Amino acid sequence: MLKNMFVGYTPISANILDLDEAFRLAVELQLDFVELAYDLQEILPSSQPVQKVLELKKATGVGVTVHLPYLELNLASLFEGVRKVSVERMQQAFEYTASVDALNSVLHGGRIPERHPLIVQAAKGQLLKSLEVLKGPAIPVTLENTHINPLEFLKGKDELEEMSRFAGFGVCLDVGHALIEGGEEQIEAYWELSHITHLHLQDSLGLEDDHFALGRGKINWQNQKKHLEGFSGTVCLEISGTADDVRHSAAFLRELLKD
Ligand SMILES: [Zn+2]
Repeated sequence: MLKNMFVGYTPISANILDLDEAFRLAVELQLDFVELAYDLQEILPSSQPVQKVLELKKATGVGVTVHLPYLELNLASLFEGVRKVSVERMQQAFEYTASVDALNSVLHGGRIPERHPLIVQAAKGQLLKSLEVLKGPAIPVTLENTHINPLEFLKGKDELEEMSRFAGFGVCLDVGHALIEGGEEQIEAYWELSHITHLHLQDSLGLEDDHFALGRGKINWQNQKKHLEGFSGTVCLEISGTADDVRHSAAFLRELLKD
C-alpha cells in the first residue's frame, strides 16, 4: 500500500480466535500486523501466549499491535477500587505489549455512569490520576475516540488531545466511532489532530457501532483518501464478521489508495 503505512486487521472482531489462523490470513492478504486483544489474553491465557506470538512473528514476518483491555475496566471510574484495579490490569497489559514487541497499542478513556457536570469533572480527575501512573510507556500507546454514546467519557477532539498529550500517548482515530459522534464533520475535526498514529478503519451507518466491511456503510471513503495518503503509522481494519469481510476491506483499501 503506501510506504509510511503499516496495515493490519483485528482477528477477534472477524471471529478468528485461533492465533495460527489469524496470522495465516495476514500472510494471505500481505498485511503487516494483526491486532491482538489483551482482554482475550486475560480471559484465555493460552490464546495468545508471548512465546507463541514471538514464534509466529518470526515465522511469518507479520508484526502485532495490541488493543489494550477495556472490558470491565475503567480508568476514569469514580470508584477508587475499580480505578486502581483498572490501572493494575493496564500495567500488566503494558508488560505484555513490551514482551511481544508490539508496533503500537490502543487504549480507551473510560466511562461515566451519567453525563452530569459534577460527574464529568470527577471522572476527569480520576482519569488524570490513572494516566499519571501510565505516562511514557515503553511501547507506544494511542488513545482512541470512543464517544459512541453519552456514557463514553471522552468527547470530541479537544478532550482527546488534552488527555493523550498529558500521558505522552498518540491518538487512535476510529472513523466509524467519529461518524456516530458527529457525522463526516466530526471525522474531519479529529483529523486536525497532529499526533494520530493509529487508525481503526471500519464502516458504519452512523447509529450503532457496526464495524462493517469498508464500503458497506455510510462513510465517504473518497473524503478519507487524502488523509490516508498523508498518514504515517499503523492502520487496522477493525471489521466485524468473517475472514471474507476482512478480505473485502483489504481489497477496498488497496483500490482506494492505488496509484
Ligand atoms: Zn475501534
